[in-house]
Amino acid sequence: MGKPKETYDFAIVGGGLFGVYAALFLAEKGCRVVLVEKEQQLMAKASIVNQARLHSGYHYPRSIATALMSDDNKARFTQDHQAFIHASFDKYYAIDQYSSFTDGAQFERFCEFIGLPCQKLDKHPSIRLDRLEALFLTQEYTFDPILMANYYRRRLEEASSISVLKFHELVAAKPQANQWQVTLKDLNSDTPKDLVATQVINATYANSNGVNRRFGLSDIPLMHEISEMAFVSSPQLKDLGLTIMDGQFASIMPYGLSGLLSLSSVAYTHHKVAHSPLPTFDCQKINTNCRPDFPSICNSCFARPASNYSKMKRQIQLYLREDVQLFYLGSMFTIKSKLKANHIDDGRPTEIAILNENPRFYCIFAGKINSIYEIEKVIKL
Ligand SMILES: Cc1cc2nc3c(=O)[nH]c(=O)nc-3n(C[C@H](O)[C@H](O)[C@H](O)COP(=O)(O)OP(=O)(O)OC[C@H]3O[C@@H](n4cnc5c(N)ncnc54)[C@H](O)[C@@H]3O)c2cc1C
Repeated sequence: MGKPKETYDFAIVGGGLFGVYAALFLAEKGCRVVLVEKEQQLMAKASIVNQARLHSGYHYPRSIATALMSDDNKARFTQDHQAFIHASFDKYYAIDQYSSFTDGAQFERFCEFIGLPCQKLDKHPSIRLDRLEALFLTQEYTFDPILMANYYRRRLEEASSISVLKFHELVAAKPQANQWQVTLKDLNSDTPKDLVATQVINATYANSNGVNRRFGLSDIPLMHEISEMAFVSSPQLKDLGLTIMDGQFASIMPYGLSGLLSLSSVAYTHHKVAHSPLPTFDCQKINTNCRPDFPSICNSCFARPASNYSKMKRQIQLYLREDVQLFYLGSMFTIKSKLKANHIDDGRPTEIAILNENPRFYCIFAGKINSIYEIEKVIKL
């Protein structure tokens, strides 16, 4: 007779912020949880490689639903993560004079409709107004992804009812007698490990469909982009964030409390696009360890694209006065995924789908960091 299999109430696949938050939430409810992560470290992908914008809605004049949902979670997120929130900088939204999907009047009406503070300005010491149709002082914060990741890693270490299996590959899974039978492989030792879970949560973001398929379940409609966040310092812009709306424009804003500014651009941040359900890119032919159904960390990948930093810098400088200096410090890369339906309206909802009822299987696709609480509304104990 073989060794009895480890049995859990929940198996969570994916150790980004959403998987980790789900694990902590369920453990607090008294559930036995196993968290499976394919990399050596938790939270090394989208949960730290992002713009760190604590969305309050401004960013989504083309998706009222996402704008409203951002505001829903903002107060609680800010309260729960106060030590990691940077709120004391001036945040500007601006409308480019040419080919924007919105205009100043529409943006003002949108802010009024959502109830967001927004004050029109006609001068600024660091921002050039000649390229802009309108400039607004708004109120938006950033969170510190690195401090937050450390905080959640620590909380996980303290949670005795959560088993964390890092560097494990999900090899196979099948339903049997109302439970999931799951086979993993320890990638350090190549040893297999079997476990049983009553419910499964897939929180793997870019690899959502790779994991759904391992469970014999259907794809969710995703597309993917290899994305670059560039980091700069600037003596003149220390306490300033500027986002140019709405289309192929750019953004510069504090990366949490780090003292750095993240620089991104709709035109240059996204290097490669995959319209397929799995993140399939030509660089995976060079780094064959990174597979469409098992993607690796772009940040440390030798086959990642060359930086577009200088293009992003040239673009943002169109809106900044000549004396503003930007010093480049480096870039981080990751796969950004989005629901295909939101390619046009730019919406970023967080969707939690139940892909199998008995045994239950959830697929969480995270749109924004401050929507972690959506999990609490959907997961049934
Ligand atoms: C460039 C960029 C900018 C963004 N800007 C913002 C912003 O300003 N504000 C905001 O709120 N949101 C932003 N987002 C969105 C936000 O970052 C994501 O919604 C969020 O980080 C997703 O978290 P996650 O835990 O679902 O995914 P991740 O952090 O990617 O975690 C998924 C985990 O699953 C693991 N995994 C994958 N496959 C397997 C497998 N087979 N087995 C085990 N583990 C597996 C991965 O290794 C990873 O650790 C941005 C995203 C990107 C990429």
